[in-house]
Amino acid sequence: MPQAVFYRACLLAVLLALCDSFGEYVAAQSGTNGGDLVSLAFPTENDAVLNGRPEYFYMGLDRRIAGRLEWSWEGGTYGYIRNSRSTPAGWRFTRFHEGVDIAPIYRDGNGEPLDEVRTVDDGRVVYVNRSPSGSDYGRYVVVKHLWEGSAFYTLYAHLAETTVRIGERVQRGQQLGVLGYSGSGLDRDRAHLHFEINLMLNEHYDLWQEERRPRWSSRHGRYHGFNLAGVSPIELITYNFRRPRASILAMLSSEREDVTAFVPAGPPPNLLERHPWLCRSCNGDPPPDWAWSWEVGFTRAGRPVSIEPSDLHIASIELGRIDALVRADYLHSRILTRRGPGSALNSTARLLLSVIFTRPDQVPNW
Ligand SMILES: [Zn+2]
Repeated sequence: MPQAVFYRACLLAVLLALCDSFGEYVAAQSGTNGGDLVSLAFPTENDAVLNGRPEYFYMGLDRRIAGRLEWSWEGGTYGYIRNSRSTPAGWRFTRFHEGVDIAPIYRDGNGEPLDEVRTVDDGRVVYVNRSPSGSDYGRYVVVKHLWEGSAFYTLYAHLAETTVRIGERVQRGQQLGVLGYSGSGLDRDRAHLHFEINLMLNEHYDLWQEERRPRWSSRHGRYHGFNLAGVSPIELITYNFRRPRASILAMLSSEREDVTAFVPAGPPPNLLERHPWLCRSCNGDPPPDWAWSWEVGFTRAGRPVSIEPSDLHIASIELGRIDALVRADYLHSRILTRRGPGSALNSTARLLLSVIFTRPDQVPNW
């Protein structure tokens, strides 16, 4: 190559590289919802899952399959991973685990875990349950974060002690407490941090519970587990860790809808007002003030992943689409029930929809 051509080629390469990194830089400034992108930390020092050693990261448990008890680290992961059942599709775990169980790294001479539990990002402590008998979660802390303009709630459960107060501002990596085994069904050997990343279904949840489930304990208010829908937390953290310039809202809004349901006419639900990115057909615009119906897309675990306005005229809730794989797999106990050769929304799905569509002045009567 003649020298002049070579230099021109080099100049072009440098310019292209600069343009490319500028493009990434611009992309890094704001997320899908207009807020800043975030950089999440792990909630304890244990990050073995990053190094391909999930068996050291997750606290497993004994699972019974075909009458045999088997220890498996998969029992500490997120998803349908507990309570095996024989189905025409083979053995399936039909009970959903809405978070992950992270094993301790440090223990003292008596085997007591010592790991610090830390907040994965800057935020505000919105709930602390100090009474270990008050919940299956034992002592737990909830921190509210604003990620790309959207509110997320991280939950840290089974703590031995908590070191923060409600209302306190915390910074990424700051200690919230010590890993433990408070709550139900745990002992020192299986001490772990149960960790969740949640969306809140409705800020007016208290009204719904008062009317529809008055016998449920109201001590946790809107931080009740039924009002918190957990995303796959380690998937989200490792995704964010490996692609620090990528939007986690873009990742979440590309999740597949396993089942959809239509809800009768009305204004957009509180969830959509707080998370407009859930409306995929809105293309970044605010959702309409009213629609003939709303089509809610759920994961197989019953977490809403999309809410779209629809022209369908209906008088009550109707089942929309079902992913054929999900039906065949039997992994849908939180949302579908079998009816003859087909499927129907089950009572949990109907309750979830009524929570999502509760307004400050009205609880749906369906
Ligand atoms: Zn757990």
